[in-house]
Amino acid sequence: MSLKFNAGDLSIHRIIEQETTFFPALELFPTLSPDLLAENRDWMRKSNAIDAGDVLILCFQSYVVRTPHHTILIDSCIGNDKQRPARPKWHQKTDDTYMRGLNAAGLAVEDIDFVMCTHLHVDHVGWNTRLEGGRWVPTFPKARYIFGKAEYDYWTEQNAKAEVPPFADSVLPVVEAKRADMVGHDFAIGDHLRILPTPGHTPGHIAFAMGKAKDDAVFVGDIMHSPIQLQHPELSPRFDVDPVQAAVTRKNFLERYCDTDTLCCTAHFPSPSTGKIRRKGGGFSCEAV
Ligand SMILES: [Zn+2]
Repeated sequence: MSLKFNAGDLSIHRIIEQETTFFPALELFPTLSPDLLAENRDWMRKSNAIDAGDVLILCFQSYVVRTPHHTILIDSCIGNDKQRPARPKWHQKTDDTYMRGLNAAGLAVEDIDFVMCTHLHVDHVGWNTRLEGGRWVPTFPKARYIFGKAEYDYWTEQNAKAEVPPFADSVLPVVEAKRADMVGHDFAIGDHLRILPTPGHTPGHIAFAMGKAKDDAVFVGDIMHSPIQLQHPELSPRFDVDPVQAAVTRKNFLERYCDTDTLCCTAHFPSPSTGKIRRKGGGFSCEAV
């Protein structure tokens, strides 16, 4: 399995924390009919996107991107020691898979210059912090953590109504440690990283386009979760805060990058998780490189 890619002057590493069965396809996508699933079952099974019981297989991973100037970690996955009772595979886990993956990519936590979150859901912020002496501290001690301001404001408001555990244990401690920057859509890192507003899954969801002066790679976060959404971009998962807007965002994103040379790096597609967007039938495909 390929964990390392080059695109333009970027080198990209996947740091996989889990690749596992997640939700039955018909449950994750409320508008997916049994007939439509049946039409797509064969290729979905062949690409390891569903198991024999029609349960979706998702990857949970970070991408670490080295530009000539910086080392940037995109989405920090699930994390250890977090209280996630609704998700047994994530609850109070203590494995070293993620840290071993980081080390296998030749990286230590001190090497990360920026941690960027596409949005602030539980499986995208977990390793922002780790437990030390009973307190949550930033995992990446030298990094600036970049959060979209609209996304941060949305979760601040939600958390004021009722505590949102991943916000409380994986975002606020970074803010309190003064390592966080809340940024607008004009934020950039040199000429190597730009923000694409991609609302719908969450109100402040952003994607990251990277590459010197052109988009050599794009990191899509949760614009889409499973390859079936390439063939059927109208399918929005039950976790999308605004399913209608999410579907528009997804379609626009796929049209924008279709038949370009940009490497599309998804958060959750099964391995290899990355590829180039091509037109296929009435929809799209993501062709592995
Ligand atoms: Zn996610």
